[in-house]
Amino acid sequence: MYEIPTNLEEEILRLKREQNAVILAHYYQDAEIQDIADFVGDSLDLSRKAASTDADAIVFCGVKFMAEVAKILSPSKKVLIPDLKAGCSLEDSCQPIPFAEFRKKHPKAIVVTYINCSADIKALSDIIVTSTNAKKIIEQIPLTQEIIFAPDQHLGRYLMKETGRKMILWNGSCIVHEQFSEKELVKLVVNYPTAKVIAHPECPEALLAHAHHIGSTSSLLQFAGENQGGEFIVLTEPHIIHQMQRLNPTGKFYDCPFVDRAGCTLCNTCPYMELNTLEKLYLVMKYGDKSGCGGELVMEESLRIKAEAPLRKMLSMS
Ligand code: SF4
Repeated sequence: MYEIPTNLEEEILRLKREQNAVILAHYYQDAEIQDIADFVGDSLDLSRKAASTDADAIVFCGVKFMAEVAKILSPSKKVLIPDLKAGCSLEDSCQPIPFAEFRKKHPKAIVVTYINCSADIKALSDIIVTSTNAKKIIEQIPLTQEIIFAPDQHLGRYLMKETGRKMILWNGSCIVHEQFSEKELVKLVVNYPTAKVIAHPECPEALLAHAHHIGSTSSLLQFAGENQGGEFIVLTEPHIIHQMQRLNPTGKFYDCPFVDRAGCTLCNTCPYMELNTLEKLYLVMKYGDKSGCGGELVMEESLRIKAEAPLRKMLSMS
């Protein structure tokens, strides 16, 4: 067991300088991790940052597929992750063998894949998208071209509406966005009648039907910032409220609970993102693979090369 210093933040910053490292964090991380990071962003922002950094090491506070993107785009950099078990339910819902079979059934289709997937799935894809750039990219594909969209069925359905394109959908989903309770949402809408409902398109259609604004995490943040002092019901991972509150200090933000069949209110945060803590961030920077939970993300070069092509395609089209 390692000792955790009392001046944890100072030690993390010292290690960062010593190692010429950059700390990248997703909006769904704990507030204290967001506050110590050099850069906080959504998947698109973070992938751009990973591709352009001149640091020697990237410490990635997010889930594993995000750290994989950093490694794919910056292969010469050491990529560290505070907890190697930080996976993703959406990623888990799309496994390479069944996905390769699915692809074979539609040989003429181009495969457009949401960035929330493993490197193996990226390697089986033609273009990667994020929720920020998906519409723009799909609109650049010729109308006669058949499209497979994976892995998120809700985002896929939303994009079909937005673009007017019919797509063949993989039926994956994210446990966080799928479990918001519509009943609880309606109660919030009744209690806060002037609040704007802002939702991520990973939410099911029934929830999106209540939204005043639907968009990627960056788009939701922008909306919160542009409507100073308002009230907002937030349908995405609630750690994002930390940045919303910064952009709109007098705004009021309400997160929507999950409720199980027995009527119990459950924690509505992403259990994978929650695995990363400030202590684990320190431990991985200090002890690397010997930290006990985190370590360096390694990837076979042949897989990295295959996964890089659709990611570069995304960066050039977005
Ligand atoms: S919020 Fe959902 S999609 Fe995002 S990392 Fe967590 S499980 Fe995956």
